[in-house]
Formats: sequence, C-alpha cells, structure tokens
Amino acid sequence: MVLIDQGFSGKQLELRLARMDLKPNEIDGILITHHHSDHGGGARIAQKRWDIPVFCNDRTATALNLDLSKVSLFENLDALEFGNDLAILPVPVPHSGADNVAFIASHRGERGAVITDLGSWTEELVNHVAGCHHISVEANYDVNRLMNGPYPMKLKDRISSRGGHLSNDQTGHFLSRVISEDTRSVVLTHLSEQNNAPHLAESVVLYHIQDQFEGDIQISLQDGPEFTHHIGQSESEKVAREGIYLRG
Ligand SMILES: [Zn+2]
Ligand SMILES: [Zn+2]
Repeated sequence: MVLIDQGFSGKQLELRLARMDLKPNEIDGILITHHHSDHGGGARIAQKRWDIPVFCNDRTATALNLDLSKVSLFENLDALEFGNDLAILPVPVPHSGADNVAFIASHRGERGAVITDLGSWTEELVNHVAGCHHISVEANYDVNRLMNGPYPMKLKDRISSRGGHLSNDQTGHFLSRVISEDTRSVVLTHLSEQNNAPHLAESVVLYHIQDQFEGDIQISLQDGPEFTHHIGQSESEKVAREGIYLRG
C-alpha cells in the first residue's frame, strides 16, 4: 500500500489512518507530488518516525530537505513498480515554482489518476489520464468567489494563472477531455475553503460531463478522509431501480 502526499504532522497522519483501521508502518511508500507543505510537509517526519520510504523527484527532495538515504528519487515519466501488481507513473504538470507531478496508478487492469495543484494541463497529461477508471482531480476555486473575494489581487492572479490551480470550470473542461465509458468514479479534491463550496464544484463540473459520465462523483473535504457523497447518475439509477423493485 502506498500513500500519495503527506502534508500532515505525525500525530494527524496516525489519527487519519486510524479512522481507516490503518497504521503508519503498514505503508510501503509515500509518493510526493511536489514540495508545497500541504503535500510534502510531513514527509520528513514519516521518514524519521516510521522509516517509511519516500518517492519523489530530485527538486522536491531538495526543497523538502529530506533524508536522502531514505528517498527513492524518480524521473518524471519513469514508472515505479510496487510488488508485482502495482505500477505508478509520475507525469509532470504545470505548477509554478514546483516540479509537480500527477500519478497514474495501474493495478490488475484498473487505472487510477491522482492530479492536484496545476494551473493548466498538457496534452501529455490528457493522453495518460484518458480512459482511467478512477480520477481524482483538484477543483480549487470558483471564479466568481475568487475574483470577488478578499484575497489581494496579486494572489488572485497567482491562483488563476497557468501555474496556479484549476477552477471548477477548468476541471470540468479537463474531465470532459479524459472521461470515457470506462470511467466509474471522479473525486474532486483540494477545494479552497475561502473560494469554493462543494455544491458549486459539483454543479459546475457536472455541467461539463453529465452527457458522457455515468459514474459517481464525490467531493473530498479538507478536515477528514471521509467524503461527502454526491449522487452521480449510476447511483440515481440504482435508487430508481430499487424504487421500482419496492413498488413492484
Ligand atoms: Zn496544494
Ligand atoms: Zn502546490
């Protein structure tokens, strides 16, 4: 089992894993997308306290001041193998001041993508994510909330730049490029508490993908691993079927 990103204190990591009946020493490796503290700030403590191997690229390892004796450096676009049935490919994504990657995991014919912190996407990313069964992607901000909100103009510009974060609208557009009939679940992550809200992210993204997506859409919130569940088409179909069954 691998963990993608570790931005928590040691205590928080333990608590959050415990909610899923897991312990830190059950993790075989931690993969870090990029050095920003919400993604890599807890990698060093995981190395120190539990000896968990960390996997990241050179720039991320240097910026996080990691113990290099416990780091496996990867090159972007070189697949990592875990055991004999898990492969993970790091794909570079644009995020200013960082060498950020998305991860595409393959396991027994299933493919899943974890994509966060990018202001725009590349065709290379689209090619790798297309057809994934599960896609986790950030939906960071609602354009109106960001632009009319209290952040200074400089920060607004940085967030919405090509190297910043994806807006709900951009995430919906990206998903419309990569979702296929094989895609069964989408998880929206990294929602800004200041500049976004679950119902906005869900409705804007669904606007872009509702004609092509029949799986579940879920939203991950910052204060816990549990998801708020928003009903996608397959769920509503199930409910409809059960309703018919009960009535029949
Ligand atoms: Zn982040
Ligand atoms: Zn970041």
